[in-house]
Amino acid sequence: MQHVREEAALAGGPAEDAATDRARSLRSVRGPRSPEECAALPTMAENVMTPSPHPIPIAVVGPRAFRALHLVRDLVLAFPPAARLVSGRAAGVDVVGEITMCQRRMPVSLYPVKVRANASRETFAKAAFARNTLVADEAAEADVFLNAESRGTRDTLHKLRALGKVVRVHDEPPPAEHALLFHTAPHPHTRQAPRGYRGPSTFDITRGSGGDAGSPFAPSEKLLREAQRRIYKEGPEAFNWYAPIYISEMRQSWRIHRPAWDALLARNHFVAVCYCIQRTCCHRGVFAQLLVKAGVRVGRRVIDGGEVTLW
Ligand SMILES: [Zn+2]
Repeated sequence: MQHVREEAALAGGPAEDAATDRARSLRSVRGPRSPEECAALPTMAENVMTPSPHPIPIAVVGPRAFRALHLVRDLVLAFPPAARLVSGRAAGVDVVGEITMCQRRMPVSLYPVKVRANASRETFAKAAFARNTLVADEAAEADVFLNAESRGTRDTLHKLRALGKVVRVHDEPPPAEHALLFHTAPHPHTRQAPRGYRGPSTFDITRGSGGDAGSPFAPSEKLLREAQRRIYKEGPEAFNWYAPIYISEMRQSWRIHRPAWDALLARNHFVAVCYCIQRTCCHRGVFAQLLVKAGVRVGRRVIDGGEVTLW
């Protein structure tokens, strides 16, 4: 990769031994996802690996606002089968790494910041910096993505270096390489199996709960009611009737709600969610294709990261 700086490894020695001991005693908050759990996750067919019995813990860390998250995805898609991801589970770099690992059915250790919803900035920052210490301790290697807004990431980087870990630094590329990366997933409150996506950057595009932000991308009430009636009568075949009408509604939405489309295209990452189980029989699959086309139209690079179901 063009913007990578690899740092010298200081493998072994007392710092690493102490880190390994600490990592063993401080079990991950989420815990490594077991091979059985990962195997149960629906995933993209590509790049699926058999988890190694002794995976190498690799941290992937970076800021929320990194503007080229497809580079994180590309990196994790190329990880060796013996890798285990260590992640802080924040929006942006962290969660893109996590989603991509789970799409490959590879294990992850998660260290989310756990504070009350109404916690002060100071409390959150303190917890986040403590979390960074755990990530640096557990990782044997790390890929660190950096841009100008990376205070927390620089803290983790400093800790990784102090522990003598192998660190590869990836600088944010120039604007010509910036992109929107998005995923799709079942809604976090779906009552249908599999469980929905409960991570950061959720973007609800349903008529029922999408609100003002999501409604420009949701089917109309009228279309939904008729689709439900037809699904009851015809089963999945009804989607062939539904999809072209949804597309024509979205053409209209592009004209009426252009600022909402532009705002979405300007983001660096989101996970579009709907209550349907399968992306292939849901408007989110059609929406994914339309968004990529909209990107071509306005000259914005848009990458469909695929469906994810992991939490
Ligand atoms: Zn749906």
